[in-house]
Amino acid sequence: MNAYILGIDMGGTKSAAIVGSMTGEIITRVSGVTPAQEGSDAIVPFLINLGRQAKAQARVELTGIGISAGAPAEARRGLVFEAPNLPGWPPDGIPLATIFAEAFGIPAALENDADATALAEWHFGAGQGTKTMAFLTVGTGIGAGLILDGKLHRGATGAGGEIGHIAVEPEGRRCKCGLTGCLEAYSSGPSLTRIAIENGFTGEATGPAVVAAARAGDTAALAALETAGTMLGRGLATLCMLLNPERIVLGTLAVHAADLLMPPLQREITARTWSRLRENLQIVPAALGDRAQDLAALCVYLQRFPPQENAGTETFGM
Ligand SMILES: [Zn+2]
Repeated sequence: MNAYILGIDMGGTKSAAIVGSMTGEIITRVSGVTPAQEGSDAIVPFLINLGRQAKAQARVELTGIGISAGAPAEARRGLVFEAPNLPGWPPDGIPLATIFAEAFGIPAALENDADATALAEWHFGAGQGTKTMAFLTVGTGIGAGLILDGKLHRGATGAGGEIGHIAVEPEGRRCKCGLTGCLEAYSSGPSLTRIAIENGFTGEATGPAVVAAARAGDTAALAALETAGTMLGRGLATLCMLLNPERIVLGTLAVHAADLLMPPLQREITARTWSRLRENLQIVPAALGDRAQDLAALCVYLQRFPPQENAGTETFGM
């Protein structure tokens, strides 16, 4: 018997609704440009409409809904809050999981997109088979999700695992989150670009352009990537000492620029962790590529409502 899930991937630029099976087979995908500047009053009906289109195209019975939200979210209550790129939401957030559950008449679960993608890599990608895994996406920001002892870790207020905002330089750069010296202020795509320009880089101000210039021998770009890799290594060293993960899965920039980031990253981890914590440690690129977001939405439902009837656990029952 195969059961199908409606997945909603809410992004600041584009959003998608997909229908897929419990084993990750995607049968329908509908996407559209998110009315990001029009507030939740426009975004919620837009997402429901995408979901209805996907359901109509798939022509299968749906058992539940998983929502991966590219905005601050509180998973336990299914709430989504305003983000800088998604303004115009009420201060108390929107109960998006409840709204979807009522609109479709089936259970719905919600996570922020970094946690959802961590679940997807753990279940279908580079984290398969591990019990303790950290996932970092190094892109516009640094998002992270932690799987600890076979469960997604959210923390007391749902904000656990924000590795991008570990201080890697106590008196360092100001981060857009308001703190000082965060990993994200050195190693995200925009930070990499900013540091390259400060170093004298004159090419196009994008992460991929800096990476390409570094490969061609541009010293300003190379120095910025050295800084990004070093700071990433510092952040991951703290993570290793704290959690002793089996595997760290790195996405986006870390996949595209692994040749440049990994040497300083590995050097820092070696310098700042005990050897016992590195014995079984694997640092690997994310494996799902552009399937990650779709599978992430499915996994949000799967981890909350495992296919076997072992209610009360959040592990996959498959
Ligand atoms: Zn920060």
